[in-house]
Amino acid sequence: MIKLHDLSFKPFISEQDVDVTVQRMVDEIANDMQDEIPVFVGILNGSFMFVSDFVKKYPKPCEVTFIKLASYEGLKSSEDIQRLIGLTQDLSGRKVVILEDIIDSGNTLEAIHRIFKNENVDELKIATLFYKPEAYKKDYKLHYVGREIPNKFIVGYGLDYNGLGRDLPAIYQLKTTQYMTNLVLFGPPGAGKGTQAEFLKDTYNLVHISTGDVFRFNIKNETALGMLAKSYMDKGELVPDQVTIDMLNAEVEKNADANGFIFDGFPRTNAQAEALDKLMDSKDSQINAMIALEVDDEVLVQRLLERGKTSGRKDDANESIIRSRITEYYKKTAVLKDYYTAQDKYFGVDGVGSIQDITERLNTVIDTL
Ligand code: AMP
Repeated sequence: MIKLHDLSFKPFISEQDVDVTVQRMVDEIANDMQDEIPVFVGILNGSFMFVSDFVKKYPKPCEVTFIKLASYEGLKSSEDIQRLIGLTQDLSGRKVVILEDIIDSGNTLEAIHRIFKNENVDELKIATLFYKPEAYKKDYKLHYVGREIPNKFIVGYGLDYNGLGRDLPAIYQLKTTQYMTNLVLFGPPGAGKGTQAEFLKDTYNLVHISTGDVFRFNIKNETALGMLAKSYMDKGELVPDQVTIDMLNAEVEKNADANGFIFDGFPRTNAQAEALDKLMDSKDSQINAMIALEVDDEVLVQRLLERGKTSGRKDDANESIIRSRITEYYKKTAVLKDYYTAQDKYFGVDGVGSIQDITERLNTVIDTL
């Protein structure tokens, strides 16, 4: 992470990745230019590093010149483009390739087209290292695009935030601090996670994601995911990690504006816990706590057999499947206690007693976070 003025930025595109992208653009453009000697026009200030690396890699003769435009004020691309240095040579009849570091709103590009309108160039092509499709509001064709990026503010490799960051050899993305509360509700099958999650979600205005519920929903609707999960679930085994992680990521993405999440039944393995940390990190957020409901095994078996009488769940229907789910929990999932304890995020709560008493115990823990 780096700090520029008042803001923090996190690594986004490495120096090596930028290099590969520039090389790819060089190859493409050199191939299209054939034996013509092109004039590359860099748009200052942002493109200086890109233009420098680009022409060093360019395998054939070329000319280089610059025009200087200014559009950014702080974090926003403004409508008002100022031409600080215009064209200083006659380009009529030439093949011109504009080299831009980034195209977002397209306002600068509009100013460029205005500059070239009366220049009588043979061909005007636009090449941009980065392109934000979500921000682009114009119709001008972009002939060469190095990489599409999301509509987030970036710095480095020529791009700045109020003057700083142009010198960085890699690209960094603005880190926006999100104040989310993300809880992992933990415990063996039958510990009461689903019941308690319903209360917590209302009290703290969180989105509840139960991976078991999402799988059951998919089974009911006979989706491909449901068919795949069913074979594992019916035996009380875990669904493979990658399937579960992809599904969880998609569920989180569906709720991009959430205040936070209660993860119920996820993570269940170390690989899932690591994937969850990565996902939270990509949202500039984190897991605040793992709250574990602690319940004795024999109590669990009795509770699940009781629930099986009305829930219609196949995996609650017989004692041997229930016991294999509990065994699976100790074999694969209980290790996660260590994972979150190492981060000082594990909170054990007695899960035996009335529903209301347990809710109060949970609230007490969350309120101290
Ligand atoms: P649950 O409703 O949490 O008891 O989950 C029921 C079943 O769904 C489990 O026994 C697994 O087969 C499957 N499942 C739910 N969550 C996960 C997960 N995080 N990883 C793998 N399998 C899961």
